[in-house]
Amino acid sequence: MIRYALICEHEHGFEGWFGASADFDDQATRGLIACPACASVHIRKAIMAPAVVGGRELASVDRNAQAEIRQALEAVREHVETSFDYVGDAFASEARAIHEGRSEERGIFGQASREDVKDLIADGVPVLPMPPKPIDKEKLN
Ligand SMILES: [Zn+2]
Repeated sequence: MIRYALICEHEHGFEGWFGASADFDDQATRGLIACPACASVHIRKAIMAPAVVGGRELASVDRNAQAEIRQALEAVREHVETSFDYVGDAFASEARAIHEGRSEERGIFGQASREDVKDLIADGVPVLPMPPKPIDKEKLN
């Protein structure tokens, strides 16, 4: 069902529900839609002002969500940096060693080449990319 905000020739606003967008045109053309206030059958679709408000609200929700995601990623990064072992360039070999039980099982972080990461993932070693450092907002402008 599609909801349309409708308006008659006397500017009476009302709503109509239609099975498909073509149904409105069909019913309006045949004079099957009458204004509940004045019974006029000269009906058109109204420009939906509330949709503009809704769009603005949606945009602000998205901004909040983005901020939340950014905060969550920063929290992950902080957690990793404070409680995982930094192994630097040895990340790939150390991750493999832990995975194969040759090294103490613990969380590590460090640098690895794209190829190394690909190989680790292919071998079933659980690795994740580090969330990027928070963007310095001062530098954006
Ligand atoms: Zn009317």
